[in-house]
Amino acid sequence: MDTIFKMYIDGQWTLSINGETRNIINPADGKIIATVTEGTAEDVREAVKAAKRAFYEDGWMETLAVERAKLLFEVADILEKRKKEFSELETIDNGKPLRESEFDVNDAVACLRYYAGLATKPHGMTYDVPDNTQAMVVREAIGVCGMIVPWNYPLLMSIWKLAPAIAAGNTVVFKPSEITPLTAIKLFEIFEEVGFPKGVVNLVLGSGPVVGHEIAANMDVDKVAFTGGTATGRSIMQSATSNIKKISLELGGKSPNIVFADADFETAVDYALFAIFCNQGQVCSAGSRLLLEQSIYDKFIERLVERTKKIKVGKGLDPSTEMGPVISEQHMNKILNYIEIGKKEGAKLVCGGNRIFTEELKDGYFIEPTIFIDTTPDMRIVQEEIFGPVLAIQKFKDEADAIHLANDSIYGLAGGVFTNNSAKAHRVIKKLRAGITWINAYHPTYNEAPWGGYKQSGIGRELGTLGYEEYTEVKQININLDIKPVEWFSE
Ligand code: NDP
Repeated sequence: MDTIFKMYIDGQWTLSINGETRNIINPADGKIIATVTEGTAEDVREAVKAAKRAFYEDGWMETLAVERAKLLFEVADILEKRKKEFSELETIDNGKPLRESEFDVNDAVACLRYYAGLATKPHGMTYDVPDNTQAMVVREAIGVCGMIVPWNYPLLMSIWKLAPAIAAGNTVVFKPSEITPLTAIKLFEIFEEVGFPKGVVNLVLGSGPVVGHEIAANMDVDKVAFTGGTATGRSIMQSATSNIKKISLELGGKSPNIVFADADFETAVDYALFAIFCNQGQVCSAGSRLLLEQSIYDKFIERLVERTKKIKVGKGLDPSTEMGPVISEQHMNKILNYIEIGKKEGAKLVCGGNRIFTEELKDGYFIEPTIFIDTTPDMRIVQEEIFGPVLAIQKFKDEADAIHLANDSIYGLAGGVFTNNSAKAHRVIKKLRAGITWINAYHPTYNEAPWGGYKQSGIGRELGTLGYEEYTEVKQININLDIKPVEWFSE
């Protein structure tokens, strides 16, 4: 491999200090598609030093919102122009079908524009307080923000963090997943092209336990934002205690999708498929538990299985592909192991359950869309995040039973309810302990609205104005309008 992709630290493309490299694999055929430099903790420290200097000494702290907005708008424009290249690269690196990569690039462009616009909008508050004082609050950048993102939406998750952090005036040290760094590297090429000052945006490549850990623990990183598994989130939270850095965590889920008998049947079936099988089920908010009212249980499963068997699994670059490979051999084995666990626990497999070994797909990490029925709430396949194309179906008797089953989870990221009774829909949503919910839909995500979870699904919110606020500190300013001594102590 003649080209080694580099990191971007302090305005320079650099190799790691120890010279190590990592091969990047196409999950559709197991072949090496790129070699990247493998960063170390020392590289992170260099990046943090640059980000700190850029913020405090080089003047980024004083940049005008309108200047930051202009840079982000320019990034959006270039990304939009290079959509084809980014989409194809994302598919080759992550495996997802091309139509999903295209959707992600469009969404990333829209997210950049949303936060570019938001940078210049009002952000403060004023308060009517006693003592002839005018009190107000301004929002200021936190400083150096560390970011660690996963492999399931490599570009989109990067933008969800980078856009609000930059819009709010922070400098950043960013780490993509070690297995899907390619679109992030290209994104930093765009950052360079639009002219971010040295040290404002830094990209460090490398493994979670080394590079990720240093970002989370470093004393000069003021905030860490993470998306990934709950176990890793817990470890990041512990590392972040070093300097009590601000944290936002977007973690796992085992989200319920509840279908009542009075729902529009075909719509509910269609969304149930989309809820679990889009992006190969590797979605934090996936509707991985389908809760069916008992009177439609058999009929719904029959139709769902019929539709699932028609899903076209294939290589992401093939335009007819509807579901691609999972991310890696290791992750594939984890999912297949969960399928074995489900069978041993006594759940009934009604669809899929195997790795695909056709001549065309045998070298990639392809798993059949899989459905389990006859589950019980205590089963591991019902409680644990599998993060693959595996659906666990649960049966419920009535509304109270549905709510009880839906909330019987350590997670609380998302949930959906399908019914034509709007009062019932609202009653159920009101009792659902989850941060993102849908009525008669599943999955649509909006840049304008906050994204994040209850319980062990995370801390804080991304997207929308709340997502922006996660990258700001709140400063109270009290202005005395009656300037005279306080006279607390006698003369
Ligand atoms: P991780 O949560 O471990 O990975 C996400 C990111 O965190 C990656 O950039 C990873 O780096 C980094 N990381 C890993 N360990 C550390 C650490 N100790 N300190 C700091 N950063 C770290 O996900 P996995 O790939 O291991 O997947 C495990 C499970 O997590 C999945 O099966 C799934 O259940 C869940 N998951 C949930 C996601 C979500 O969106 N909620 C996304 C991805 C996974 P690197 O990959 O470079 O090692």
